[in-house]
Amino acid sequence: MPDLPRNASSDQTVREAAVIQQELASELKYRLARTPERATEDDWLVAICMVVRRRVITALLATQHRRQANPAKKVYYLSMEFLVGRSLVSNLLSLGMLEPARMAMANLGLDLERIADREHDAALGNGGLGRLAACFVESLATMDLPGMGCGIKYDYGLFRQEFDGPAQVERADFWGSDHSPWLIERADESCIVNLYGHVEESHAADGAYRPAWIPGNTLLGIPHDMPIIGYGGRAANLLRLYSARASEVLEMGVFNAGDYVGAVQHQISTETISKVLYPSDEPSQGRELRLIQEYFLTACAMNDILREFSESGLPIEKLHTRAAIQLNDTHPTLVIAELMRLLVDHHKLPWDVAWSVTQATCSYTNHTLLPEALERWPVDLMTRVLPRHMQIIYEINARMLRMARARWGDGDPRVAAVSLIEEGGTRHVRMAHLAIVGSHSINGVAQLHTELIKQSLVPHFHELMPERFNNKTNGITPRRWLAQANPPLAALFDDTLGPQWVVELERLRELARHQDDPAFIERLARIKLANKERLARHVHGSMGVLLDPASLYDVQIKRIHEYKRQLLHILHIIHLYLRIVDHGEDVAPRTHVFAGKAAPGYAAAKRIIHLIRSVARTINGDPRCRGRLNVVFLPDYKVTLAERIIPAADVSEQISTAGTEASGTGNMKLALNGALTVGTLDGANIEIRECVGPENFYAFGLLAEEVGAMRRDGSYHPAQYAARSPALAEVLGTLIDGRYDSDREQYRLLYDELMGRDHYFHLADFDAYAQAHRTIAQDFNDRRAWHRKALHCMAHLGHFSSDRTVREYAREIWKLEGA
Ligand SMILES: *Cc1c(COP(=O)(O)O)cnc(C)c1O
Repeated sequence: MPDLPRNASSDQTVREAAVIQQELASELKYRLARTPERATEDDWLVAICMVVRRRVITALLATQHRRQANPAKKVYYLSMEFLVGRSLVSNLLSLGMLEPARMAMANLGLDLERIADREHDAALGNGGLGRLAACFVESLATMDLPGMGCGIKYDYGLFRQEFDGPAQVERADFWGSDHSPWLIERADESCIVNLYGHVEESHAADGAYRPAWIPGNTLLGIPHDMPIIGYGGRAANLLRLYSARASEVLEMGVFNAGDYVGAVQHQISTETISKVLYPSDEPSQGRELRLIQEYFLTACAMNDILREFSESGLPIEKLHTRAAIQLNDTHPTLVIAELMRLLVDHHKLPWDVAWSVTQATCSYTNHTLLPEALERWPVDLMTRVLPRHMQIIYEINARMLRMARARWGDGDPRVAAVSLIEEGGTRHVRMAHLAIVGSHSINGVAQLHTELIKQSLVPHFHELMPERFNNKTNGITPRRWLAQANPPLAALFDDTLGPQWVVELERLRELARHQDDPAFIERLARIKLANKERLARHVHGSMGVLLDPASLYDVQIKRIHEYKRQLLHILHIIHLYLRIVDHGEDVAPRTHVFAGKAAPGYAAAKRIIHLIRSVARTINGDPRCRGRLNVVFLPDYKVTLAERIIPAADVSEQISTAGTEASGTGNMKLALNGALTVGTLDGANIEIRECVGPENFYAFGLLAEEVGAMRRDGSYHPAQYAARSPALAEVLGTLIDGRYDSDREQYRLLYDELMGRDHYFHLADFDAYAQAHRTIAQDFNDRRAWHRKALHCMAHLGHFSSDRTVREYAREIWKLEGA
C-alpha cells in the first residue's frame, strides 16, 4: 500500500479552494451558460462534477501511460451488476479534495453536502453481488492493480420503491446515464454482436470441421467508461459499461428491401437490450431478453479483451498470461463458449489448445446455495439465440462426460449429475456446470459457503477436480463504508492512528489499546449519538416520524427475502409490542429500522413488507408504546440510504436461516461502523464472530448442519414449536386477528406458511432469537460497556476490507504482478 500524504495544511486547502472556485465559475459559464445568480443546485452539481472529472481524467491518462510502458497481466471482472451509488463525494475523497471543495462551495454561499445530495445513484445492481463488484473495482484501483470492470449501461437501474399505504409500488429509475459526468462514450471502440440465425456446416481443405455462424440479427455494443479512481489519486481503472444500439450493417439490408417500418422496429427492439436491469436477485429463468443481455455483455467484453491482447503482439495461445477473466456468478458464463468460439472458429486453434487457454483464463465465483437460484437456460432457447454456442456447449459436455465415465464407470448416477445438460421434460443448460468445467478456479464467498459448495451443491465436481475449489471471503471498501459514510468516526480514527488505516484496515487493531480509556469511549459514544440524531432528522424530514436517538437503534437493511428472515425480526417486534400492551411490561426503549426492496414478482417478500409496514403503523400509533417502541420502514433502499443508516446503527440484524446466506456484506459494513451483531452462524457472520470474539457477538439459532439434517429427514414440524412456546403462539395469533389490517385474511398466507411448512425455520429459532435480544437489552443498559464492545469489534474487523479480498484473488487466482 502506498503511504498517504500528511493532512494538507490549511494554507494549501485555501489555495486549492481558490482554484476550484475559479474552475467552478468557468464551468458554470461556458458549459452551462449560466450566471451564478441564475444557477440552480443541479447546475452547481454539474459544475463541481466537471471540476472533479478533469482531475479524474488526468489520473486516468497518467495511469494508462505508465502501464503502456510496462505491460502486465490484467483482470477483467465481468458482472451483470455494479451497484456503484454516487460518485461525486467518493471521487473528492479519493483525490483529497473534499475540504477544498467544501470551502470553495462555502465561498460561493453553497453547501457541498446539499449539492452532492442531488446526485442520482447509479443503481445498476440488485444488492450484495452488485455492490461487491463495485467494492472490488475500487479496491483494484486503490491498490494500483490493472483491472477493468465490464458491465451493462442500463438506461433504467433498479426500480425506485414507493408505497401505497403498506404495499410496495415500483417506479422506473431513469438515472440520466446519457448525461452522466462520470461516463465517457467510446463509440470508436464499438463492436458488433451477432444473434440468432443458423450454423452452416463446412470443412476446411484438411478435413477440419469449420462451421460458419450466419447470424439472423446484428447489433452494436457501445462502451461507456466510468473512471474509478483509487484512494490517494495515484491510479485509475475503468468500469466499462456497454449499451446496445441498432447496427447499420443490418439496417441497410432491411432498408434496401423497402421495409422502412421494419427497420425502425428493429432499432427499437435492439435498443431494448440495455434498457433495464432485471430487478430480481434470482435468475429470470427462460427470459429471452435476459439471455441476450448476458450474451451481449460477454461478447462485448471478449471483443475488448482480445483487442487489448492483440496489442501485446503475443500469439493467442498466450492469452492467459495477459488476461484473467473473473465471472461474478454464472451470469457471464457464456464467455466460456464465446472464447472457445473465437479461438476455434476465428483463430483456428485446435480444440484442446483452445480449451486449455480458456480454462487458464477464466475463473468463477459462486454466490448462492439456493438450488432455485442456479441459472439454467432451455436448450431450445439457447439453440435459437446462439446456435453455434449451443454446439460448442454440447462438445464441451461430450468431452467432460467421457472423462467422468472413465472415472466412475458408464452407468454411475454421478455422470448424469455433472452433465451440462439437465434432462427430463424440457432440457436445460446448467450454467454453473459450464462455469465450473471452463474455469481453473471456483470460489465461494465465505468459509462456510465454500464448504457447502463442495459438500452439497456440486459434490461430484469437487470429487473430480478438488484443486479448483477455493474460498475468498467477501470484503467491503473502507473508503465508502467508513471514510465517506461516517466522517466523525473516520476523524477519530485519523486522530488516533494517523491516516493510513484507510488503505490498511488491519491497522484498526491499534484501537484496542483505547478500550479502557473512558475519554475515548465517551468520544465514540458521542459520535454514535450524533449519527443517530442525524438519521432521526432525515427520517423526520422524509417521513414525518420522530425517532428517539437515546433508544437502541436496531437495523435490518437488505433485500427482502424469505431466507433473510425479516419475518423473524417483525415477529419479535410483535412480541415486544404484546409485552407492553397486553402484559403491561416495561421494555427498554427501541427503534427498529427496516429498509429493502422486494423483487416485483416475489409475492411472499411483498407480503412481508406489507406486514412490517402495518405493524409499524399500529405500534407507532399506539400511545402505550410512546418512548418505548418505534418501527420505521424507510423507502427506496439503495447505496446512498445505506450510507446514511449504517453509521447510526447500534444493533445489526444478520439473521438468515443458517446455510442460506452465502456471505453477506451488510454485516461487515454495520460492524465496521460500531454496531453489534445479532446473527445466526451463517455466511461471513461466522468469521466476523471469530474475529471479534463470541462475547461481542449475539449468536443464536440452529446451525447449518442442523437445518440441513432436519430438511433431509423431514423432522421439522413448526406447529410443535408454537405449541411449546406461549410467547410465540401469542405472536402468531395476532397475525390473523385483524389487529394490523382490518382484513383478517391479509396475513393468512404468512400464517399458514409459518405453521405448515416454515421452509426457513422461523419458529424453530424464535425463542433463541428473543433470548438473544433480552441479553442485548440488558447489555445496552451499561452504555460504557456497550461502546467498549463496539470498539473491540471495530478494532478486529480489518480482515473484512475488500483490499484483502482483492489481494487474495490477485495473488491466488489472477496471478497479477505486484499483488
Ligand atoms: C451492502 C449492500 C447490500 C448487501 O447487503 P446484505 O446485508 O449483505 O444482503 C445490498 N444493497 C445495498 C444497497 C448495499 O449497500
